[in-house]
Amino acid sequence: MIEVKNLSKSYKDFQAVKDSTFTVDKGEIFGFLGPNGAGKSTTINILSTMLKPTGGSVIINGYDVTKHKNKVRESIGIIFQENTLDEKLTAKENLMLHCKLYRVPRSKRKARIDEVLEIVDLTDSLNSTVEKFSGGMKRRLEIARGLLHYPKVLFLDEPSVGLDPQTRAHIWDYILKLKEKENITMFLTTHYLDEAEISDRVAIMDRGEIITIDTPKALKQQLGGDIIELTTADNARALEEIQTKFDVVDATIVEDTIHCKVENSDAFVSDFIKQLETPLTGLDIRKPTLNDVFLSFTGRAIRD
Ligand code: ADP
Repeated sequence: MIEVKNLSKSYKDFQAVKDSTFTVDKGEIFGFLGPNGAGKSTTINILSTMLKPTGGSVIINGYDVTKHKNKVRESIGIIFQENTLDEKLTAKENLMLHCKLYRVPRSKRKARIDEVLEIVDLTDSLNSTVEKFSGGMKRRLEIARGLLHYPKVLFLDEPSVGLDPQTRAHIWDYILKLKEKENITMFLTTHYLDEAEISDRVAIMDRGEIITIDTPKALKQQLGGDIIELTTADNARALEEIQTKFDVVDATIVEDTIHCKVENSDAFVSDFIKQLETPLTGLDIRKPTLNDVFLSFTGRAIRD
């Protein structure tokens, strides 16, 4: 459904996207995960025809994004980071306007509006003005609007940024429901690790480059073992001690914590606690996350 080959975008001598190559299958949720400035929005803007690439090619639903812009635009829906609804209009008026812009046949408009409002649970708000909606309701209405013209691909740029955790979880419920119901291909960008986890596959991006692509599970399994997070009275001294005295796969200081990757935490921890000379103030054992994957490739945490 999406085929990206050697995609690049430069602003004067700065390369925001460097030689990206990937494909997205029909019905897949494909996540782009990376810190701010990684090049995620630039990529989504090129894929959705809003920005011209400086190199490479992008084919969406069989159409080239630079040569057949209108065909691509008919094939996609976009949910932007910012609210782009008309606040003075009702939900129905916003959706009607979109139907007209996208030439949804007049006879199909009402049924389609009812259908998309039901997906996002806004049927009862059909005739309310958008300015009375909460942040979560507005985002849901934007998702509904993005679906009106039966797009093959839905682009979601940081779909839950600025929403509270509960509303974010709800938005995700709707997105998953949508995948099940309409078999839409979804391309989303995020800097939230838990959102990336929902994707079927994740591309991790940093400084304009895709550093790895796989299922969240496979990415984490690549790391193997467990992560032990430690706080100590003197992290620099403890790190040196860990690296010289213990059998760890990797150890790094992340902010005020030491992250140790070990093959088996059960076998490791009891001797470790007895033998570490630097006083320990905290110890936590967990499985690797996508942040650890990012850390292992770049030496930095995503929130940096
Ligand atoms: P992300 O969405 O991952 O936060 P962006 O794609 O917005 O990252 O930006 C990638 C890089 O490109 C950033 O360093 C940003 O400053 C730079 N950039 C984006 N747009 C422009 C522009 N119009 N001119 C110059 N640099 C830009």
